[in-house]
Amino acid sequence: MKVTLLGTGTSYPDPERVQSGILVEIEDKPILLDVGSGILHRLLQVVDDVTKIQHVFLSHFHIDHCSDFVTLCQTLWLSGLRDQVNIYGPPVMDQWWEGVFDTAFPYLKGRFPIVRHKLSKHDQVKINEASVRCVPSCHGDMDSRAYRIDWKGKSVVYSSDTAPCDEIADFAKGVDLLIHECNWLDGEHEKRVHTSPTELAAIVAHAEPLKVALVHLSPSVVGVAESVLSIVKGTSDTEVMLGHDLMEIDV
Ligand SMILES: [Zn+2]
Ligand SMILES: [Zn+2]
Repeated sequence: MKVTLLGTGTSYPDPERVQSGILVEIEDKPILLDVGSGILHRLLQVVDDVTKIQHVFLSHFHIDHCSDFVTLCQTLWLSGLRDQVNIYGPPVMDQWWEGVFDTAFPYLKGRFPIVRHKLSKHDQVKINEASVRCVPSCHGDMDSRAYRIDWKGKSVVYSSDTAPCDEIADFAKGVDLLIHECNWLDGEHEKRVHTSPTELAAIVAHAEPLKVALVHLSPSVVGVAESVLSIVKGTSDTEVMLGHDLMEIDV
């Protein structure tokens, strides 16, 4: 599996980091996790044929995780895509879908075959020999999903946006790569929305992934990256990496 962190930023403007998106390539078959603003551009920097994208998993419907889906659809249409595109996400996808295709951009409807798959809180999808499972993340009132991809003994977990969440920590137990958000620094914050370095250190100590890549990085976190990485690593054996846009990780 080859993982490319397409976007590692947040909703805060950052010229170095676009919003959330991860490309997972398994035997030349790409799976896209989240499509925030800037992700289509990043995608075009790493794939030679955008019409290979046929599976898109959305974690939740905050703008920084889904806003480039519309531009991706337009690009797929203009690229002459004929194959079916599958989009997966929590059930609230229905309202978002109606807003996009019935209200805002009805001219996009029917341009190419696209099928919605609503995911329950604990669900599983098979894509060729890979399995994609989900659990709910802890992200305020938002119905959101963390994803785990398993393929031939290799495993990747993407936390999505989340506060520390027992189910995700268990989900990530012993994985090869945990891609976890670290949105803000330690200190006082709104409860049950995002994760701080000290909170992520506890998750790493529990899950003991081989590697962890920090994403969803606000400028304040990036500004003290060395300290953040040291806190997250703690005394674990896990390799701790600060994610950056277009970072490639072999799993
Ligand atoms: Zn969010
Ligand atoms: Zn976000």
